Amino acid sequence: MASHKLLLLPGDGIGPEVMAEVKRLIGWLNSAGIASFETEDGLVGGAAYDAHKVGISEDDMKRAHAADAVIFGAVGGPKWDSIPYDVRPESGLLRLRKDLALYANLRPAICYPALADSSSLKREVVEGLDIMIVRELTGGVYFGEPKTITDLGNGQKRAVDTQVYDTYEIERITRVAFDLARKRKNKLTSMEKRNVMKSGVLWNEVVTQVHQREYKDVTLEHQLADSGAMQLVRAPKQFDVIVTDNLFGDILSDIAAMLTGSLGMLPSASLGDIDPKTKKRKALYEPVHGSAPDIAGKGMANPVAMLTSFGMALRYSFDMGELADKLDSAIASTLAKGLRTADIKSDGASIVSTPQMGEAVLKELQALYA
Ligand code: NAD
Repeated sequence: MASHKLLLLPGDGIGPEVMAEVKRLIGWLNSAGIASFETEDGLVGGAAYDAHKVGISEDDMKRAHAADAVIFGAVGGPKWDSIPYDVRPESGLLRLRKDLALYANLRPAICYPALADSSSLKREVVEGLDIMIVRELTGGVYFGEPKTITDLGNGQKRAVDTQVYDTYEIERITRVAFDLARKRKNKLTSMEKRNVMKSGVLWNEVVTQVHQREYKDVTLEHQLADSGAMQLVRAPKQFDVIVTDNLFGDILSDIAAMLTGSLGMLPSASLGDIDPKTKKRKALYEPVHGSAPDIAGKGMANPVAMLTSFGMALRYSFDMGELADKLDSAIASTLAKGLRTADIKSDGASIVSTPQMGEAVLKELQALYA
């Protein structure tokens, strides 16, 4: 059995608490002979600052480059609010994304039937929802130059951000999205603002060309991003995979996230290019939530987002889709039995701690292999 190298970066706050549940799962997968993972622990965020005065050390960056996947918890907290900007906890995550060239951010929004009542939308609109938002992560208006604030000298200032995309950036993110659609319901929706933005015109043109050249078997539709946002809350189940730029993706993926109930349920993956020599793809998997200082150390954190982030690693880095499906089923049955961490509590449910939730999911998974 091939052995896979993982760098675990638990980070701060609830990061180490939820990562402990991934470690429990990995320990069992290794001992049961279902998979073989070699893991190393590193420091990121405030934890790295306390030890090395940086957001992530050079040593840990080397280990991130050498790993088959990085599994990341969460960073930040009030303790580090006043440290210098360039070594703030988030700098560790930004450095990982930049140096590993992780340009594709995958955010699934899945609504487990047992949690449909936690959504702000009606049960029938969200129950069984399973969509994937693919956001371009390293280009666009967050990085484009010029990016300035100029004093105009007349009591006014002018702020400029630049939205910029080159063909190759749109092509590579489009391919990631089409490849995903092929493994799902074979439908891709591209969202931009071609009616008012030149970058939207190019985005639309390039996505259409990639479709014509390489993915004619996948259904492609285009929507303007504002109307797409409306459709996401009106009838989200019409979508399968959505591909969009960095700015719209930031907003649309947060809207989609909230359709499913709690932050504690949402995983994500950030992927880079496939290395032509090793055929491996740089990848980092992390829950969408932050370090939740308000509940850190209390054993209240929901470990599901962290566990499903590891599930995405199984699927997208290690081609273990069947195991990932079983992990999803184990989570669904745990929830269906009424076990809940405090963030997703409902009438009649039992409130359990982080380790109890992790143990319960593992027990359900073990039952699927018994
Ligand atoms: P947050 O996601 O940490 O918390 C928002 C709310 O959701 C809190 O009430 C928290 O208790 C709850 N919550 C989050 N995850 C949960 C879980 N797994 N189980 C149960 N409840 C959960 O966001 P915030 O409060 O805005 O930020 C706190 C810190 O995290 C800040 O320092 C922020 O910069 C950082 N942050 C880091 C990341 C990251 O590491 N990728 C992302 C967002 C925020």
